[in-house]
Parts: sequence; C-alpha cells; structure tokens
Amino acid sequence: MTGKYDIIIIGAGPGGLACAHELGNSNSSVLVIEKNEIIGPKVCAGGLKNLDKDFKLPVDKIRTFLQEDYVTKYKSYTLNLEKPLRTISRYDLGQYQLKMLDGLDNIKIMTGVKVKEIKDSQIITSAGDFSFKYLIGADGSNSMVRRHLGLETKSCIGMYYEISGMTDTVIWHFNPEEIMAGYIWAFPHLNSTNMGIFFNPEHLSPKVAKKVLHDYLDDRNINYAGCKYQTAAISHHYDGCEFNNIFLVGDAAGLALRTNGAGISFAIVSGKEIARKILKPDYKMPELAVILNYKKRQENLFSFIERIPFIQRPAYRMMLNLMKKKWFQKRFGSYF
Ligand SMILES: Cc1cc2nc3c(=O)[nH]c(=O)nc-3n(C[C@H](O)[C@H](O)[C@H](O)COP(=O)(O)OP(=O)(O)OC[C@H]3O[C@@H](n4cnc5c(N)ncnc54)[C@H](O)[C@@H]3O)c2cc1C
Repeated sequence: MTGKYDIIIIGAGPGGLACAHELGNSNSSVLVIEKNEIIGPKVCAGGLKNLDKDFKLPVDKIRTFLQEDYVTKYKSYTLNLEKPLRTISRYDLGQYQLKMLDGLDNIKIMTGVKVKEIKDSQIITSAGDFSFKYLIGADGSNSMVRRHLGLETKSCIGMYYEISGMTDTVIWHFNPEEIMAGYIWAFPHLNSTNMGIFFNPEHLSPKVAKKVLHDYLDDRNINYAGCKYQTAAISHHYDGCEFNNIFLVGDAAGLALRTNGAGISFAIVSGKEIARKILKPDYKMPELAVILNYKKRQENLFSFIERIPFIQRPAYRMMLNLMKKKWFQKRFGSYF
C-alpha cells in the first residue's frame, strides 16, 4: 500500500487522537497510524487532572474525587482539591476519543500498522510507504520520531498492580527516606484499584522500587497475587515540539511531569495546539505555553530541592505540608 497525505500522525494515544480531532473538517488529508490493533490500552494509572473543561469525559466510565489522602511516615492528612481527580481506564479513554472522530471524513485511521522507518517526507510501515508534508510524532515515551530528530530522552518509571475490587480513597504515600521524590499511589477505578510506585531511576533501581511496592502491599495485607503487573517509562525531558515539518506531542515531546509522571492532559493539550499551529502557522500556542510554564515551575522547585542533598528530606516534608495551602496548589498543583 502507498499513499500521500498532508499530515501523518504516528500514534493514536491521547495526544495523537486529540491532534486528529482538531484537524477534523480542515482541508488537510490526515493519516493516523497506530501499531496496536485496539485503540486505548496502555500501561497507565488513568488519573486525570488539569483537563480542559470542554473535554467532557463519559460520566459512566469515570470516577471523580474531590479529596485525596496524603500519607507519610510522620503524618497523614486529607487534602481538599482545587481541581478534581478523575480516573478512567485507558481503553475507555481511547475509545471515547476515537468516537469523537466519527464523521470526520478527512481523517483516516490505520490500526495494527507499525512505523518502521522515517525518511525525508516519507514513512516506511508494516503496511507500505506513505508520504507526508507534515509529520507528527505522537508515539509516546519511546518515540521513534524523537530519535529520528536526534533528541535526548530522559524518563522516570511507573510500575503497578491492577488490584481487583473497588475502593473509595485516592492515596498518595510518600516516603522520602526510601523513594526520594517518588511515591506510591492508589487510584480507585470502577471495578479495581490501580496501586503502584512512581520513581526516578537516577535515585532508585527498578528492583528496589518493586520491593518497596511489595513491602507496602504486604504490610497492608493487600493481595496482589495473580493481579496484572505492568511497568513502563515516562519521558519527561522537553526540548521543543516544532522541528521544521516535524512536530512532537505528549510523551514524545517529553511533556509528562518529571515530578509525578502525569502526562495525559498535557498530551491532549499539545496535540490540539500542534494541529492549530499546522493549520495556522502564525498561531502562538498559548495553551501549550501554560503547560510549559506549569511544568517548569514544578520541575524547578524539585531541582532546587535536589541540588542541596542534606536538605532534601526535610524539604520534601515541608513541601507536603505546603500542598495543603490553596496558593501552593494554585502555583505548583497538588501532587498530581
Ligand atoms: C505506569 C504509568 C502510570 C501512569 N499514570 C498516569 C496517570 O495516572 N495520569 C496521567 O496523566 N499520566 C499517567 N501516565 C503517563 C501517561 O500514560 C502518558 O503521559 C500518556 O499516555 C501520553 O500520551 P501520548 O499520546 O503522548 O502517548 P501514548 O499514550 O504512549 O500513545 C502513543 C501511541 O503511539 C503508538 N506507537 C508507538 N510507536 C509506534 C510506531 N512505531 N508505529 C505506530 N504506532 C506507534 C503506541 O502504540 C501508542 O498507542 C502514566 C504512565 C505510566 C508508565
């Protein structure tokens, strides 16, 4: 198979699908290529904050939380959230975004097709070669488009179990002595609870992190035997998203937060912004600027703490206390 498209998007995750939606009904022909047969499933805890108010998730597929429990060795407290946390399975999110593309005749989606190579104005895939005017890398943390551009990738890691049975409390467990800036989470979903650990491999090896997670679950008599275990990297190093006729969105652009691994809403916003930029080259991408500012503020705060080793642990403890303050949540977010 061969074909010519104005815009090719590699990857039908939240970033690629949001980008395609924004390009819908334009004069550009758009091809979205996804290597998986089914759109949606991805190693992810499915927690969402900072979503655009126009992005209305299907109410029967989500859970909404207005409070989170923060637990440390020293104290625990319940935080009232400025913005609610929602949870959704990645299958449901992907299928919901896919449905939004119904009836957009200029968008073609190919699933079960892997992009193998990128050449000048052409991609080589498992289903043939396709040429493009613009290429969008929405291909996640292990982005081949990013590698093609010669950009460095830095990643954190998340690992979790999908524990059967529904719970009702969002938990963030901090233990700077063991996991430094990382944390253990419990995100309740509709029929299960996603419990995992987020960490920076510069501070903790995956082997130790897995043991910390197991100890946490064992100490609380949480049975994870036979539960689905998943792990993946989360790319967080941003180096720009416009490179002549090649663009990056979401994790491929390194937009996830190094501080907590959140990246879904940033993938969606960046996907939309890049689409608008391609359609209108003098568009300034103000929503992307807001995300980048937020990411920079959070990461600068962490870098400041990390630079002075002997204050790290008390500083993390102080930060956990500050998160209770509304002004702090506004400026730096609650943890997520
Ligand atoms: C353990 C874990 C937990 C997480 N929890 C959360 C959370 O609770 N909340 C949150 O906001 N974020 C979370 N994240 C981060 C979140 O998953 C990502 O930020 C988000 O999925 C990024 O979206 P994206 O569209 O950029 O990329 P992706 O969702 O990774 O989508 C990329 C798509 O590209 C496809 N693709 C890749 N290569 C090719 C190729 N060569 N050819 C064709 N297709 C290709 C992939 O199959 C995939 O469908 C978590 C991440 C991990 C690892």
